[in-house]
Amino acid sequence: MTTWRYAASSDVGLVREINEDSFLVTPDIAIVADGMGGHAAGEIASAIAVEVVANVFTVEPTASGLRDAVAAANDAIRDDALAHPERAGMGTTVVAVALVPTSQGLLPTVINVGDSRAYQLRDGAMRQITLDHSVAEEWVRQGRLSPEEAAVHPRRHQLTRTLGVEGLSEPDVFPLALEPGDRLLLCSDGLSNEVSDDEMASLASSPYSLEEATANLVAMANHHGGRDNITVVLLEFDEVSASAPVSTTGVVAVTPMDVTPAPAAVQPAPEITSAAVPRTARRRTKRFTWRTALFLITLFAVLGSTFFVLRWYANSNYYLASNGTTVTIYQGQPGGFLWFKPKEVQGTTYLVTQLRPGDQQSLALTISEASVEDAISYATYLHNQWVIEQTNGGGTTTTTSSTTTTAAG
Ligand code: MN
Repeated sequence: MTTWRYAASSDVGLVREINEDSFLVTPDIAIVADGMGGHAAGEIASAIAVEVVANVFTVEPTASGLRDAVAAANDAIRDDALAHPERAGMGTTVVAVALVPTSQGLLPTVINVGDSRAYQLRDGAMRQITLDHSVAEEWVRQGRLSPEEAAVHPRRHQLTRTLGVEGLSEPDVFPLALEPGDRLLLCSDGLSNEVSDDEMASLASSPYSLEEATANLVAMANHHGGRDNITVVLLEFDEVSASAPVSTTGVVAVTPMDVTPAPAAVQPAPEITSAAVPRTARRRTKRFTWRTALFLITLFAVLGSTFFVLRWYANSNYYLASNGTTVTIYQGQPGGFLWFKPKEVQGTTYLVTQLRPGDQQSLALTISEASVEDAISYATYLHNQWVIEQTNGGGTTTTTSSTTTTAAG
């Protein structure tokens, strides 16, 4: 035989108007359900779940009977919502432990949908044996979050599976490895959200009796704010005739994976979640890359064209100037432009002193030309003007008139 004693308590908490949690304990099954939905519909959903799961399991007391029980409860909730449109969208979690007859004896078996939890307690230590069906917890199963990150993640309360919602009611079902003296705590999130694991472990364990322990737990949840309905069912196993194989060191392990078959292994995450998550992540990465690339391309285009315009302007001019001795052709803006310095592109053989004095002054101020060729020919012209002047031995005026005379003659 496997037998348990139990104590249970359900409290509305300090904030909510009504208590939408339900629970039921018989000699064969203990159930906690946390209902949700407006107009007190959550209360109805959780009550239906508790009643239907217990009834179906009584008729079909097997592990698959537990699955059938959850499916039947899901149907019953949806039928009720169709019959009462004001209850549309109502749903509930379910966590239960049932004693399933096997050839060895009664095997304690857990079934879970949603984020109500089961914990196992032994020698003052406690471990969570269910995994929440929340977005954050599914991400932990996929390796995208650590359990510590999930515990504070904003989407830890967003359920991925509930009863009452089509296609999202697939339960985790797994047997437990228990010993006489072990306690099992079933609770709604109104307890687990308010009370730390350490507090729960000490308050739920001996020397406290089952009745003291349940009262302790509810009082502590209210002490921390009581923001949700609080339901606690605490079982103590006096005899255990059948048990799941213990795969590792014992009950005090930290994660749910260690001792019992992990629910995640039994039940893969629903497709809707696992498909949706990477797509979001991919799209985010892609958008980031494209926006960055576009920004960089635009930036380089602007910088590049600005650079070319500036360089074109800087180099678009040629001028004649003195390099100190001879007439020289430079490319660039006289005196430079920004960081572009003029550069010498062509020397001439004409000494600066071999220009007329006025031209020497002009040369000191630089003389702009459109091309190297223009600059060369103008330098030659200036030099020739000086040669003519030297030949005629006269001043500028004389040269001019002489030239005029020559042209006329
Ligand atoms: Mn709740």
